[in-house]
Amino acid sequence: MKRPLSLTGIPVSPGVAIGRAVLWVSREDSSPKRALEPEEIEPEIERFRKAAEAAVQETESTARHVKERLGAEYAGIFHAHALFLKDRTSLGPIERRFAHERVNAEWAVAATTADLMARFRSLPDEDFAHNAADIDDVGRVLKRHLGGEENSRLRMEDLAGEAIVLVADELTPSDAVRIPRDRVVAFVTERGGRTSHAAILARSFGLPAVVGVPQLLAEVGEGDRVVVDGRDGLVWREPSEDVVAFFRERRNQEARREISLKERSLGGITRTRDGAEVAVRANIELLSEIGDVVEYGADGVGLFRSEFLYLSKEGVEFPSEEEQAAAYREILEGLAPRPVVIRTYDLGGKKGARHLVGSDESNPVLGLRGVRLCFARPEMFSTQLRALLAAAAGGNLRLLVPMVSGVEEIRRVRTLLKKAREDVLERGISVPDDIPLGAMIEVPSAAMTADLLAPEVDFLSLGTNDLIQYTLAVDRANETVSDLFRPTHPAVLRLVARVAEAARTAQKPLSVCGEMAADPALVILFLGLGIREFSMGPRTVPMMKEFLRGISTQDAERVARAALSLSTADEVSTFLAQELRDLAGDGAPRTAMRA
Ligand code: PEP
Ligand code: MG
Repeated sequence: MKRPLSLTGIPVSPGVAIGRAVLWVSREDSSPKRALEPEEIEPEIERFRKAAEAAVQETESTARHVKERLGAEYAGIFHAHALFLKDRTSLGPIERRFAHERVNAEWAVAATTADLMARFRSLPDEDFAHNAADIDDVGRVLKRHLGGEENSRLRMEDLAGEAIVLVADELTPSDAVRIPRDRVVAFVTERGGRTSHAAILARSFGLPAVVGVPQLLAEVGEGDRVVVDGRDGLVWREPSEDVVAFFRERRNQEARREISLKERSLGGITRTRDGAEVAVRANIELLSEIGDVVEYGADGVGLFRSEFLYLSKEGVEFPSEEEQAAAYREILEGLAPRPVVIRTYDLGGKKGARHLVGSDESNPVLGLRGVRLCFARPEMFSTQLRALLAAAAGGNLRLLVPMVSGVEEIRRVRTLLKKAREDVLERGISVPDDIPLGAMIEVPSAAMTADLLAPEVDFLSLGTNDLIQYTLAVDRANETVSDLFRPTHPAVLRLVARVAEAARTAQKPLSVCGEMAADPALVILFLGLGIREFSMGPRTVPMMKEFLRGISTQDAERVARAALSLSTADEVSTFLAQELRDLAGDGAPRTAMRA
């Protein structure tokens, strides 16, 4: 048995979980690294050689196929791939990694192909770029043959009855929605940041999670016993019985506290200590969360990330108009008369759908994403708009457009909506007249022009996850720069204040639906800027309602003024954390703000 060890990462979803590690291979072609024990090296070489043989057979058969259909010239490419795969000298660098670096075959293949590709790409002659693409292809075929049954020595079925902690290099959003939630009690990843979508989903599902754990895959192997502390970002491998007992007790305490907060969340309107009415809504991704919205006492849905209707589906087909309309009806009717904000597809960027974009973007987060991708795929977008309008009569629908960067996009959406409405009415389906249309403010250009946008829409919603990413030029899902992802940076605060001012002047409602809305220290600031609507993972709602009932808008205004006069993210964080303690006393909820 391995010796006990504790690792530290970024805590992204609170709670304690105890289970056995299962390595998770991402759908999006990631190659998790695993350290080999000395006795595993020979079998790993054997496994790799078998995969290489199977890859040769596949490639030769592809070559025959291509020759029949397209001619010998094209088949030559695949003959070359097969030759590469048969050649001991070309496979040598991969095999040497087993002995020298003691890593698994998937990782050895990925690392070697990445090295070779980088070398080809650095050469001046353009022809070599094709060689890089060939290497990429060969690597993919090899990895596919390494995958499947043998990939995981210990599979979930072998852990009958045991709770599972997923251990991965990284989880994509579509991996995260596929996690079998009946068995999995937590996940831990080597990469990722606090506002990556896997982290957001973990909070929505109430799954404890820690991301950005250095050396995770080198230290934690399949079947290891693991304790995950999602509040403080700790991961224990093969913990002692004392450690397990300590965390079991904490898990029980947390469960008791959650039950009592939940009960208090269910009664009527939430008001601050001085009587200001506030709305605390839920962010959801899946239809299965409709029950959570009610159970945790949320005042409706402030953000339904509709792209998960697609991301949670197998295959690349979009849900049909009828399937979408049925899904929207289920949410609207299930939650009526509560308001439900449905955001149109925010695909692209890091939310999969590479084939929709049509080309490999070198900077997907700055590429065809959100409403831009919707404009580029008009049929996909119109289908969604028609489905939304057809379902609207079932409840209290509000439409929200993601990744807006200026007024033109809103005008274009209005034109498309008008056309979609005509199409739906023509079929004899009634559509309410007054469906509010809102813009996400998550791109700095939208924040800077919020005064121009506000008159064009019915409401605004601050998406602080992307607003921070784009304002500070810090990838929200990259653990190597997670220290620079600072919600309290004065630039972020100034943009938020500017948007709040624009909403007030235009008398349009403004809500915050990014993860900043889930942090009580930051909610004081928003309240002080006049914001009265917040949206967050359903499980955070009870805590936030309880907290808001205890503070006054006058205090919040004082705090906001003072915070805006500070010069650095550290100063603002320290100040807000102190104010939170002063205003909420001993039982102050936890903040992620740090000095
Ligand atoms: C945001 O960017 O803050 C937001 C709420 O949208 P998403 O997290 O889905 O990008
Ligand atoms: Mg966003």
